[in-house]
Amino acid sequence: MIRVLTCVAQQHDLRLVALSAVICALGCFATVTLIARAEAGSRSLLRALVPAATIFGGSVWSLHFVAMLAFRTEAQVAFDLDFTAASIVVAIAGSLAALSLWRWLSTVPLGIVLAGTVLGLAITGMHYLGVDAMAASSLVLFDPYYVAASILVGVAFSILALARAGRLTSFGRRIEVTGWFALAICGLHFTGMTAVTVAPIALREGESYVLGSTPLALTVAAVSLAVLIAGLVALALQQHLSQRDRRDLSRMRLLSNLAHEVLFIHRDGEVLEVNDAGGRLFGMAPDQIVGRPVLDLFSQADVPALLRRTRCRSEDLRPEEFEIRTAAGTHVPVELSCRTIEFGGKPATAVALRDLTARKRDEARIRHLALHDALTDLPNRYLLEQRLGPALEAAALDGTSVAVIYIDLDRFKAVNDVHGHAAGDALLVQAAKRMLTELRPSDTLARIGGDEFVVLLTGARAPQRVAKIAGRLVEGLRRPFQIDDYRVEIGASAGVALFPADGSTTETLLRAADTALYRVKYEGRGSVRFFEPAMDAQLRARQRLEHELGGAIARDELRLFYQPIVNGRTGEIETFEALIRWQHPERGFVSPAEFIPVAEQTDLIGRIGAWVIDTACAAAAAWPQPWRVSVNVSPTQFRQTDIPTLVATALERHDLDPARLVVEITESVFIQDASTAVAVLTRLRGLGVRLALDDFGTGYSSLSYLQQFRFDKIKVDQSFVRRLGQDADTLAIVRAIVNLGHNLGLQITVEGVETAEQLAILRELHCEQMQGYLFARPAAVLGVSELELARLRALFVEQPLLAMA
Ligand code: C2E
Ligand code: MG
Ligand code: MG
Repeated sequence: MIRVLTCVAQQHDLRLVALSAVICALGCFATVTLIARAEAGSRSLLRALVPAATIFGGSVWSLHFVAMLAFRTEAQVAFDLDFTAASIVVAIAGSLAALSLWRWLSTVPLGIVLAGTVLGLAITGMHYLGVDAMAASSLVLFDPYYVAASILVGVAFSILALARAGRLTSFGRRIEVTGWFALAICGLHFTGMTAVTVAPIALREGESYVLGSTPLALTVAAVSLAVLIAGLVALALQQHLSQRDRRDLSRMRLLSNLAHEVLFIHRDGEVLEVNDAGGRLFGMAPDQIVGRPVLDLFSQADVPALLRRTRCRSEDLRPEEFEIRTAAGTHVPVELSCRTIEFGGKPATAVALRDLTARKRDEARIRHLALHDALTDLPNRYLLEQRLGPALEAAALDGTSVAVIYIDLDRFKAVNDVHGHAAGDALLVQAAKRMLTELRPSDTLARIGGDEFVVLLTGARAPQRVAKIAGRLVEGLRRPFQIDDYRVEIGASAGVALFPADGSTTETLLRAADTALYRVKYEGRGSVRFFEPAMDAQLRARQRLEHELGGAIARDELRLFYQPIVNGRTGEIETFEALIRWQHPERGFVSPAEFIPVAEQTDLIGRIGAWVIDTACAAAAAWPQPWRVSVNVSPTQFRQTDIPTLVATALERHDLDPARLVVEITESVFIQDASTAVAVLTRLRGLGVRLALDDFGTGYSSLSYLQQFRFDKIKVDQSFVRRLGQDADTLAIVRAIVNLGHNLGLQITVEGVETAEQLAILRELHCEQMQGYLFARPAAVLGVSELELARLRALFVEQPLLAMA
């Protein structure tokens, strides 16, 4: 190395060495620019590479001979014309061969080595032919060691240059490759010159082909000028091209970065460009994505489909779904579409990816919503049926059983009415959670209506076990719930049906469970009932009743019967209680105990109740004496309809003195919302109507209601009277009720007096009024003949005589 540097420094004219270096550098740069053009363009190989090889060969040759002129020997040097000419041919032809090889074989490392070796040898060939040309005037001696080293340097740098010439897209890379080429040429030349010792000999006389150094200088100057011009033109071209490319690229980037979709361009499976959206989706800087194999960006499972797709013409394909892989390793669903475009002058594929995450999430949410209840997130009826069907099929095959538990919350509506819908919703959510704690994950709990739930139990479970689970569910719902600041107590009823005994299809099984539930509610709620075949008949009968009741008013099938309520001291009739009957065309008179609950559950109660009030007022207005008329208002009717307005209208229409109307309600009107009940009762009182608390003693915490609202009278329930003769306590209770009423200033009516004995006992309690079969049964016409009135009076007159007897 030191010898090479010494050779350059001492045996050369440094000004000319510098000139040769500039020529070489410019030539190499021109070559690199032309190679880059050849790379990007789609022109034929030969047309693209011939100029590059010519300029490269020319540069090598110029460098060599300018440097030769800089080489100081003792004698004047002359050059053999043939060798000089051959050397430039070798340089150009060798370069063309090397570049062509490289262009074909650059995909394999061995191809690059081969091309680099050919290029190195071309430079070597040129150099030593050029040196040999001096043989015309000198004895040229070689140091084989430096000859080998020079060849090695030439070949090595040539390989390096070609290895780095693969992607000449950036200016920096072009400068770098220019450097390697220049090093290959200069390195070989000056190492080669170190190997040479030149001893002058006499010029062979008369030989015309010998070229003196002055003509050589002229030739070299001409070639160098050509190389220089080519270099400058290349520089200008490079400037122009890179500006245009940059403009194109930045315009394209600007546009693609505006897009929300991911856009990238690839050629032969390698990413060339990607927009910012791509960087965001893949979680990498766009620079990190450029240069990667496209397949690396996708999920491994998608690779075969992607390869299949690339084999087809991309334009012909509709968008397809794939999964990409982000830097974090997560998979993201995308919709892929692509087209062939021209990029950098060559065909490439532009790929657009649309992130499907949001769409998939929305789809999943919609699917979930379609199958689940939005409030509790429990499966809905549809999903329940979807699960029940297969569960029944599986059970039929295995010979196992399936249980369906239909659950209904008992006082849910009251919570909703009193505390509002938000509280009702919160209660449903808590109730659902509480039930889930009693179930296995494999069981299904579905919400199929407002406060209706269905549990599906699969696997072989004995009826006792099912009963236990249903019992636990009902028990759990009986415990108080804390909703905001309120403590709410509801309760639940459950009906159970078993497959295959109670039903073999989804529909029949659910209906059987519903029938059993209905029975529980009918019997007073709060418990569990298993389905029994007889229930079906009862349910059907009830459904028929419901249907027929709907048309009863229109068909004029409702009647009011009247039962007298007599003075507890004298037996004089004071009031008639209006008691409804349904005169059924086939069944005769149907009891209100049978059809009023049906009317309450089907909203018919409003129409029926209005009819009762209106008919009773009309009847009373036509009575020969100003007896009072007492009407019953059911709790549901009391809550659902505007009773004060109904009453006021009826009184006015029939011109009835409000004081002659008594409205009977039961304690249960207070249960759901006592303050509203008190408000309605106060409005009724304002009309001048009398108010009675019916069936007293059968309800809840009776005393508190009596304090909240001052009734005019209380009607002691007939169950007390019935037990009067049977146990001693009853008399004490009735006496206590009567005393309490009297202390509060209320009248007492005792219902259900059937026997003279009962009358005798009750008379001692000094009740204001009495009602019962002993006096009269309810009847379609008033029993007010003189004879009848006398009979009633006699009951009270005869009493002391009976007692004496
Ligand atoms: P309630 O208001 O307590 O009516 C008294 C019930 O006791 C009547 O039964 C009456 O016939 C019956 N009764 C009267 N004296 C005796 C007796 O000495 N022994 C026995 N065992 N029973 C006696 P009914 O007419 O079957 O009515 C039953 C219930 O149906 C009524 O009880 C009332 O709550 C309801 N109801 C009747 N009519 C109407 C109505 O127009 N609207 C509403 N909402 N409910 C009504
Ligand atoms: Mg009554
Ligand atoms: Mg009663």
